[in-house]
Amino acid sequence: MAEIPAKTFWQLEVCNACRYCEGYCAVFPALERRRRFTPADVVYLANLCHDCRACFYACMYAPPHEFGVNIPRALAEVRERTYAEYALPRVVAGLARRNAWLLLTVAVASLAFFGLIAAFSPRGLFQAQTGPGAFYTVVPYLAMVLPALLLWLYAIGVMLAGAFAFAKDIGATRTQSGSWRAALAAAGEALGLRYLRGGTGGGCYYPSERTSNTRLVLHMLVFYGFISAFIATIAAAIMQDVFDQLPPYPLLSVPVVLGSVGGAVMIVGATGLLYLKWRSDRAPADAQTLALDWLFLISLDVVSLTGMLLLVLRETPAMGVLLVVHLATVLAL
Ligand code: SF4
Ligand code: SF4
Repeated sequence: MAEIPAKTFWQLEVCNACRYCEGYCAVFPALERRRRFTPADVVYLANLCHDCRACFYACMYAPPHEFGVNIPRALAEVRERTYAEYALPRVVAGLARRNAWLLLTVAVASLAFFGLIAAFSPRGLFQAQTGPGAFYTVVPYLAMVLPALLLWLYAIGVMLAGAFAFAKDIGATRTQSGSWRAALAAAGEALGLRYLRGGTGGGCYYPSERTSNTRLVLHMLVFYGFISAFIATIAAAIMQDVFDQLPPYPLLSVPVVLGSVGGAVMIVGATGLLYLKWRSDRAPADAQTLALDWLFLISLDVVSLTGMLLLVLRETPAMGVLLVVHLATVLAL
């Protein structure tokens, strides 16, 4: 289990005595159920926090007070440690740096892999290709799908292993984990981003001390944009494998409409979140978590941008290069 600084336990005990922030989010009602905290309790509380920062700006014991209570930062530090613990292979320190190197290595290796395949394809990398199956004349279907499938299986394995490790760490019982009512309530709150709406109803305190719903809206754009792009991929697979229609598809087909809408809103959402992060107050932030956020948002933006460029320029000689770059960035993400 992640190592938790003694000061984090102490801060949570101060909150438990104070209880001023109990209406802000799910963290405070949960912490009020304990008099003393175990590491498992802290891991659970840390992963309930949405970093809305309401409790930081409301706190009379926040810095420069000598208590220095800073709950968003303390919980973000614990979250970052849990991500490192649940990574496969496990990361001892510097998760953001490890992820940056991993992303760079996979991107360069994928560029080389797809670049070589495309360069030696019958029509080459720089010739315009049109009509059904145009993408596969540059990179054959199996070369596109097999590496993606392997990496997706690895990613799903890491996520499942992380979920089981988290359940074990917080001591979830089989009955609790299998409670459909609790699962439905949690899914509803997660899908509606309830705790980014702010405890006072005016949104979170982000990027500064004033409440705003901008972060909530941008998160929604990223999440639902991703879902739209994911459904577009499934629709394309059905058109290809069930109805024998090879891509690229017409502009008004289901995969292109959903993919374009998803890609465009992900670009707006990820770029907006990058801007908010750049302007955000660093006092309640954890530097490691911030670095992870930068890395993830920049990669998401690059994948969406290359996907949209590929759509716009798919009938031009730039298609080959854009396809190679887009596939490499998707694998690296
Ligand atoms: S964050 Fe500060 S104000 Fe809020 S409950 Fe904790 S100690 Fe009290
Ligand atoms: S930052 Fe927001 S979500 Fe996190 S503990 Fe404070 S009030 Fe709750």
